[in-house]
Amino acid sequence: MAKKPKPLDFHSKWSYAPAPESTDHVELKKSYGLFINNEFTEPLSGKYFETINPARETKLADIAEAGQADVDRAVKAARKAYDDVWYGMPASERGKYIYRIARIMQERARELAVIESMNGGKPIRESRDLDVPLAAAHFFYYAGWADKLQFAFPGKPGVKSLGVAGQIIPWNFPLLMAAWKVAPALAAGNTVVLKPAETTPLTALKLAEIIRDADLPPGVVNIVTGAGATGAAIVNHSGIDKVAFTGSTEVGKIIQKALAGTGKKYTLELGGKAANIIFADATIDQAVEGIVNGIFFNQGHVCCAGSRLFVQEPVADLVIRKLKDRIETLIIGDPLDKNTDIGAINSKDQLGKIKRLVKIGIDEGGTCYQPSCSLPSKGFWYRPTLFTDVTQASRIVQEEIFGPVLSIQTFRTVEEVIEKANNIPYGLSGGVWTDKGSKIFKVSSQLRAGVVWANTYNKFDPTSPFGGYKESGMGREGGLHGLSPYVNLN
Ligand code: ADP
Repeated sequence: MAKKPKPLDFHSKWSYAPAPESTDHVELKKSYGLFINNEFTEPLSGKYFETINPARETKLADIAEAGQADVDRAVKAARKAYDDVWYGMPASERGKYIYRIARIMQERARELAVIESMNGGKPIRESRDLDVPLAAAHFFYYAGWADKLQFAFPGKPGVKSLGVAGQIIPWNFPLLMAAWKVAPALAAGNTVVLKPAETTPLTALKLAEIIRDADLPPGVVNIVTGAGATGAAIVNHSGIDKVAFTGSTEVGKIIQKALAGTGKKYTLELGGKAANIIFADATIDQAVEGIVNGIFFNQGHVCCAGSRLFVQEPVADLVIRKLKDRIETLIIGDPLDKNTDIGAINSKDQLGKIKRLVKIGIDEGGTCYQPSCSLPSKGFWYRPTLFTDVTQASRIVQEEIFGPVLSIQTFRTVEEVIEKANNIPYGLSGGVWTDKGSKIFKVSSQLRAGVVWANTYNKFDPTSPFGGYKESGMGREGGLHGLSPYVNLN
């Protein structure tokens, strides 16, 4: 029998010195009102809620909770701005405003990144290198389309904006999701009422300041904060012409039912449970990095996370061993430390959900592996977790966990893995790792998923459409495809 390799020792030899990002330059107000008509105003509801830092469990600010009457005010402001200013403005002028937002975001990139990490728990390396630059890139990209809509939809001379877009976003990429929603809506000539998620409102409120500083006409973008009831008030408001939602499949279904028969347009970007498929001919070390990035990026709070790993049998033991070694090296802790790989779980509720599902995985017979690292005593944390001995029927294989938990299955043939990968209610994304181009084409064309990455994972670009099949939603965001839900083509 082959000798079992000795586990690698990463801890006793060396470690990184702390490299915390400074928060001195960050300006946060004690409390934030609702952003309507370019002003922060007191909510008519009179209610506020706290937003916290999930890595420290400390309060960051009080946030206004918009009630029905507040949503009504925001929708009326957006309608008036659409009718009086935005609709009739030359498209090239609209484009200039969007460019201006993009540039100010770049100027304030550091502050935005720090706030994103403080409020959401994600590592500063990610907010600095991905969330913020990509959010600015979306504004730049869609600014370019504003005066070229006739080229975006050739043969459709009657391209017309819709009116007021109601947009509801989640907590995993707060600023980036705001950009995904606001930029195409404005470029297509609509005005906006946006609601950030209740746990992560701060960068959207900073975006509100940027919009005000960019001198957008009052009412073109309104940002109202609150939880599910505020979101529902937007969805059900008769003055909304289009709903754009990113969030859970559960809430997506509620919204779809509420909108049936209303004539409002909608796009839904919902959950996922992506298959990340490693063939025996893949470059294994590169694939292991891709697996780690696929599931542990942003603590696994990613709808397109590669949360189901499929490894071809001949390399399964090797991949699992390398994966275990690799997750021993991941640094978990202060999101503001530039060395951190895995930050805090976004909220206590989400941590509870992850723990519940992991327990179910163990109760159903799965073998759970976690590295030995210690966790900070305050805040919400979860170790990167691998599950083997799971089957297609396991709940942790079928359900979205939205945390740093990877289930691992093996396969023998291409047909088998395609069948297993598609045998799931979701269809948002997938990954294929192989040396053979023909295999990439075969597998990616047969995976029922909106985005499939080959020999890489979690690559995003404003020019590229994103969206799902089945319970992962409907409609596409990003690229040219992302403009069409915001226009009428008749
Ligand atoms: P998650 O489970 O990831 O928290 P949710 O779907 O609950 O995702 O939340 C995504 C966004 O949808 C948040 O901004 C939340 O406030 C909002 N939301 C929650 N419930 C509703 C609802 N019934 N109608 C509209 N928006 C909602």
